[in-house]
Amino acid sequence: STAGPVVEAAALSYNYGDRGEFQAVRSLDLRVERGELYALLGTNGAGKTTTLETLEGHRTPTSGKVSVFGGDPRDRASIRPRVGIMLQDSGFAGDLTVAESIGLAGSISGREDDVRRVLGVVDLTAKSSTRAGMLSGGEKRRLDFAMAIWGTPELVFLDEPTTGLDPSARDGLWDAVAEIRSAGSTIILTTHYLEEAQKYADRIGLMNKGVLEREGTLEELVTGHPSHITLVAPH
Ligand code: ATP
Repeated sequence: STAGPVVEAAALSYNYGDRGEFQAVRSLDLRVERGELYALLGTNGAGKTTTLETLEGHRTPTSGKVSVFGGDPRDRASIRPRVGIMLQDSGFAGDLTVAESIGLAGSISGREDDVRRVLGVVDLTAKSSTRAGMLSGGEKRRLDFAMAIWGTPELVFLDEPTTGLDPSARDGLWDAVAEIRSAGSTIILTTHYLEEAQKYADRIGLMNKGVLEREGTLEELVTGHPSHITLVAPH
């Protein structure tokens, strides 16, 4: 499973609702190659999180196909050691300390790393013995990120990694992303921030109302994007 795209979706659709009446993702085709940083960009409700959760194996497609490393991402046992995941809201805020949380997530992942190293990467060394439940919103996001990058996974999914972070924490997060990229990790993330996507992504996918309307490098998107897509950062 070393050849071929790391992540591939073909005619992927996902519907919500008792009768599947709400189409959150519509016939989406996607290929992400080894070492790429791919950013899904779009407004609230565009379907970015639903797409990511389906690629992660957390949702079963209504129709279409998803493969990760050539296999089914719902096959957790084979995928887990190779994939790090940062959810939009992990809800992880228990009685464990920050250091214990990272250590536990690390041991579940099956990858090797060092708690002190990872604490340093996300600038949480000073909070290492604080209970995770007592962290600020931005600190919780950094803890979630730390758990996703533990052991430098081959593939990392990040759902709005910088939302709620102050500028310095954002820079720190992108530095950490650059570090795992230089080690060869493939990264798929969602964001609302055009300026982050254009600065860091190899390719950007523009989602609107469940449809992946365009994708490409920034240059490809700027030359000839359809007029109904508004390339404006949301703030
Ligand atoms: P945001 O930027 O706000 O996180 P998003 O692009 O990640 O948005 P999704 O969270 O994937 O979008 O949501 C896509 C659509 O599916 C939205 O219209 C949302 O209301 C709907 N949706 C999401 N989760 C559910 C659910 N559990 N049940 C029903 N509809 C849902």
